[in-house]
Amino acid sequence: MASADSAEQLVCSTDPEHPANLIPSLCAKFWTLGWVTGTGGGCSIKDDDLVYIAPSGVQKELIKNTDIYVLSLAAQEPPYKHRTYLRSPPRHKPSQCTPLFLAAFTRRRAGCCIHTHSQWAVLVTLLLEQDRRGAGSNVFEINNMEQIKGFGRGLGRQGNLGYHDTLRIPVIENTPHEEDLTEFLEAAMDEYPDTYAVLVRRHGVYVWGDDVHKAKTQCESLDYLFQLAVEMKKLGIPWISNVPRVAPERP
Ligand SMILES: [Zn+2]
Repeated sequence: MASADSAEQLVCSTDPEHPANLIPSLCAKFWTLGWVTGTGGGCSIKDDDLVYIAPSGVQKELIKNTDIYVLSLAAQEPPYKHRTYLRSPPRHKPSQCTPLFLAAFTRRRAGCCIHTHSQWAVLVTLLLEQDRRGAGSNVFEINNMEQIKGFGRGLGRQGNLGYHDTLRIPVIENTPHEEDLTEFLEAAMDEYPDTYAVLVRRHGVYVWGDDVHKAKTQCESLDYLFQLAVEMKKLGIPWISNVPRVAPERP
């Protein structure tokens, strides 16, 4: 157990890139995008063994470094229902997203995980819900879009997806308590080992990456594609297309 002073040091740094400073600045940006409206959504960063997490039920655009929880990943026991913290803010509650963030860190070796309540993500899950005729309805699929290049090929694979590749994001059903999503998120990770995101029906999306930069890039790219997909649907344009290749692929 860290002493009170050393616990506070975990969230005090003059470096703007320190996770305890970066989470508040990222959350303020995400709020302007409508991703973390009304205290929903959140963000967590892993730095070596330390995991930094935004608190629950707090205005995400107003979070300060002193609002951040810190835990040691090695000190936690799966399935992470009972967690111990190295540092807890005095007046907040731990985020219910915590076990989902930990799943991204332990099962996908992620360095950052972002959870948004973006309306575009929710709308995509509603469109897929309306279209449950075939076996593919619990996965969002899109191809032949430039922004797909914003995604890595998958854990342990080199490079990013290409313009003609198909991006697939699985959808899980929502639960009354966010913590209870964990086992379904983990099952979706197992079923789609290359995915960097999981949609939650009528709720939002979890997106992760090897580091903050990659998680943010993938989250932004995905939100762009979700918005595009909703507009395409309105115009009757399918998400999966067959377009001719006009130049060769390069390695
Ligand atoms: Zn949520």
